[in-house]
Amino acid sequence: MMGESTLLSYEIKKLELKHTWTIARGSSDLKQNVIVRLEKDGVIGYGEAAPNVRYGESPESTIAVIEEAIPLFEREDLWNFVELGFAIRELDPAQTAAKAALDIALMDWIAKSLGVPLYRYFGLNKIDVPITSFTIGIDEPKVISKKVQEAGRYPLLKVKLGMENDEEIISAIRAVTDKPLMVDANEGWKNKEEALEKIEWLASQGVEVIEQPLPASMLEETRWLRERTDIPILADESVKTAADIPSLATAFDGINIKLMKAGGLQEALRMVWLAKTLGMKVMFGCMIETSVAISAAASISPLADYADLDGNLLITNDPFTGVTVHEGKWMLNDSPGIGVVPRL
Ligand code: MG
Repeated sequence: MMGESTLLSYEIKKLELKHTWTIARGSSDLKQNVIVRLEKDGVIGYGEAAPNVRYGESPESTIAVIEEAIPLFEREDLWNFVELGFAIRELDPAQTAAKAALDIALMDWIAKSLGVPLYRYFGLNKIDVPITSFTIGIDEPKVISKKVQEAGRYPLLKVKLGMENDEEIISAIRAVTDKPLMVDANEGWKNKEEALEKIEWLASQGVEVIEQPLPASMLEETRWLRERTDIPILADESVKTAADIPSLATAFDGINIKLMKAGGLQEALRMVWLAKTLGMKVMFGCMIETSVAISAAASISPLADYADLDGNLLITNDPFTGVTVHEGKWMLNDSPGIGVVPRL
């Protein structure tokens, strides 16, 4: 049965960052994401793409894929969202952020049409949402101390390392807080011996998890590293979709799942099941994102061991309201769908 026609539209949003965002790959002050709006039968679903140059994405390449998807959404019955999800997956393999926007909007629309919050639709308990880390980007030690103070309400910090001043950054943080830390090297350490030395020192500084110590191409070296340390090592740049997971199972203790890499909620869930089947831990991470993509990820975060869902906390002009933080955890609200509302 065909209802009224489906309207799929998009808009580029310029997001302003609170601090210049520096990681091992580079710096930025502004981020351009694409918001997708899916309207049918009086219900509106929202999705978001955060294109990432690391994966060959731009706002333009994202929009090209969204435009390609418009006839699919017009032709298919949205209730066949699994089938439609696989059709979306067939679009340009490299453009996963665009697919994430489409799939988030689709699942938001489905849950809203049913009148249930997305986490309830997936049978999850909001009590199980893990504490989210707040990320401290690479900076001068003086600025780092200021950022740590600004992060006062977050009990868990994720620190970006992988440049020349790793020790300086950790010492600056330890001078002002004894909070548990996770470290993300973003492929910044270039050989296994250097990485092991760093990790041993970081362990002595109360670091509990290490993310992507070596470049994605250095899988053997990462396996070598994992055999020599007890700190869990998580894959981020090494894993995009479920297909990448099996080959990582002996080199990493877990994976960082991001909706933008996975291409949406449906693929993220397949990744969770596969990782858990292989005995791997699961982190839910994010890019610089608005409350749309963060609320979507938070909705399935009861499945995660670790959460690093702070992308919307790093921007000053979030165009939406959605989940809110309480004592370091995202509080899933009981609005239908992913629970976001555009700011007027
Ligand atoms: Mg990472």
